[in-house]
Amino acid sequence: MSKILEIENLTVSFGGFKALNNLNFSLDSGELRVIIGPNGAGKTTFLDVITGKVQPTKGRVLFKGKDLKKIPEYKISRMGIGRKFQTPRVYLNLTAKENLDLVCNRKKNVLPTLFGQSDHSEQRTVAGLLETIGLDKRANLLANLLSHGEKQRLEIGMLVAQSPDLLLVDEPAAGLTDEETENVGALLLSLAESHSIIAIEHDMEFVRQIANDKVTVLHQGALLCEGKMDEVQNDPRVIEVYLGEAPENIEH
Ligand code: ADP
Ligand code: MG
Repeated sequence: MSKILEIENLTVSFGGFKALNNLNFSLDSGELRVIIGPNGAGKTTFLDVITGKVQPTKGRVLFKGKDLKKIPEYKISRMGIGRKFQTPRVYLNLTAKENLDLVCNRKKNVLPTLFGQSDHSEQRTVAGLLETIGLDKRANLLANLLSHGEKQRLEIGMLVAQSPDLLLVDEPAAGLTDEETENVGALLLSLAESHSIIAIEHDMEFVRQIANDKVTVLHQGALLCEGKMDEVQNDPRVIEVYLGEAPENIEH
């Protein structure tokens, strides 16, 4: 199977401190990988390097075989890597539909306009997206009035509108109700049918819901272990690392 992402001997130092320490990682095309690890393990830094926000001190990141070294963030995003930050970034004074319209219009081709064609295909895309994220009934509501979970789903929809090949999501279940956690999980699982996804997560219940495949555990910037969820959960090294954490981090 082809690799969409390969990370070789990656080290990121902040001053003398190694947030990532000689990390090796690879993701198959079409895979949904969950990355877990205690606070400070380097999970967000890992995404920062993939998106070009932070440069490797050593090692390299290959996306579809291409070294991302020194490529600016906006270009990496155009190459097909979409990132969902922890807090939703949607326009609160626009409706859900208007938020999606904005992103879809950004991609608009001038040709249909020139030839006087209507933008029906685009309308369908927005409608299809609204359905995918389960907001078709809430389409005309101001984003401000959506629940936190609905905002998270809307932002995921806005990312998907840009047709990324690789989706990166940082703790999408943080602060969500149980019901919304399940909704967001179901959304990621459905998107996984057509995207490669890396989901960083702290909430173990959520990880159990979405981790059908491999789970990667990070600790102190290095790979602690990798495997199926039930193997990882019973690994004494993982238990030890998580026992050092506040219990709410394990349970929620
Ligand atoms: P996680 O997302 O797993 O909680 P982070 O990647 O945010 O971990 O952080 C890993 C470590 O790197 C932490 O100890 C954090 O304080 C440190 N760190 C992250 N970004 C910076 C930075 N820009 N400058 C200095 N230290 C940083
Ligand atoms: Mg983080």
